Amino acid sequence: MTSSTNFIDLRSDTVTQPTEGMLQAISDAEVGDDVIDIDPTLRELEIATADLLGKEAAIFMPTGTMSNQIAIRLHCHRGTEFICEADCHIHHYEQGAYAQLSGLVAKTITGQGGVLRVSDVQDSISPENEHFLRTTMLCLENTHNRWGGRIQPQEEVREICYWAHRNGLSTHLDGARLWNTAVATGKPLNELAEPFDSISVCFSKGLGAPVGSALVGNQKFIDEARRERKLFGGGMRQAGVLGAAALYAIHHHQDRIALDHENAQRLGIACQQSKSLRVREERIDTNIILCDVHQEHGTASDVVDLLASNGIKCLTTGKQTIRLVTHLNVSEEDTDRACEILRTI
Ligand SMILES: *Cc1c(COP(=O)(O)O)cnc(C)c1O
Repeated sequence: MTSSTNFIDLRSDTVTQPTEGMLQAISDAEVGDDVIDIDPTLRELEIATADLLGKEAAIFMPTGTMSNQIAIRLHCHRGTEFICEADCHIHHYEQGAYAQLSGLVAKTITGQGGVLRVSDVQDSISPENEHFLRTTMLCLENTHNRWGGRIQPQEEVREICYWAHRNGLSTHLDGARLWNTAVATGKPLNELAEPFDSISVCFSKGLGAPVGSALVGNQKFIDEARRERKLFGGGMRQAGVLGAAALYAIHHHQDRIALDHENAQRLGIACQQSKSLRVREERIDTNIILCDVHQEHGTASDVVDLLASNGIKCLTTGKQTIRLVTHLNVSEEDTDRACEILRTI
């Protein structure tokens, strides 16, 4: 399968085309009805995913949004609040689904560069008093999307989750890009997942699968998640055709994420060499590059248009901020070409 243009598409790591191997895996997949009983390929994917993350069970979900929202709904009783970082995906990019669908409130706390520490949250649990919502959960995001793929330092993660559990909160990780953290830090996924009661991972981002996420946790939690998935309209029949691509991706595309990180570093250097762009905090942890656009050179949308006319697609994330994301379909040669263009901006 090929993409229809020769643009270098740096809008998101979700734009990837399925690889030959994936398409073969899809056409070879043994499938069943995952709502009536099981789809064998999905089952295999769920076992492999739970295993990688060191938890008892996993369940395939159509999207990361559904996966996060079902996790939150299960951890929190209606009419309670959960703590999350102010710029997190769950709060910022999911239409406040926790409020619309589950009657929950997000208590947003601004971290430093997207990282939440115990010192940021220690006064954020509401006292037991009829004026207040009860605080029931802590959510983290690793890597942090709106903070440019920022890695949560694992020592801080352990401390804040320990604090949460000691205070009776459950913990959920939005690990849409936990694969990137694992590759960048060399820490195994199960170590990164260990402090959390549940984790959501996406197959459709860095791993390059066309569709799908998984929610991971203990067996009882995942059994309940299965009921909720049906309620949300996410029960899918021969979903092994999707699961096969995801399974192929976890077997073949984890290690190559290192290349996305190298390409991102090179693009970052090119942005620094340009007149109008500066890399946010002069730091790129993984595969997302956030660049601030100097006001005298126009707005972020001006730069996006200029890059588009030079063959690079990217997005704005603010009035003066653009975002570039590397992925499976951005080769070293594409990166060379993109660097040349970026330097001239
Ligand atoms: C992409 C993403 C999600 C979920 O995305 P879907 O498009 O619903 O699959 C959740 N969290 C983060 C941090 C993401 O980047």
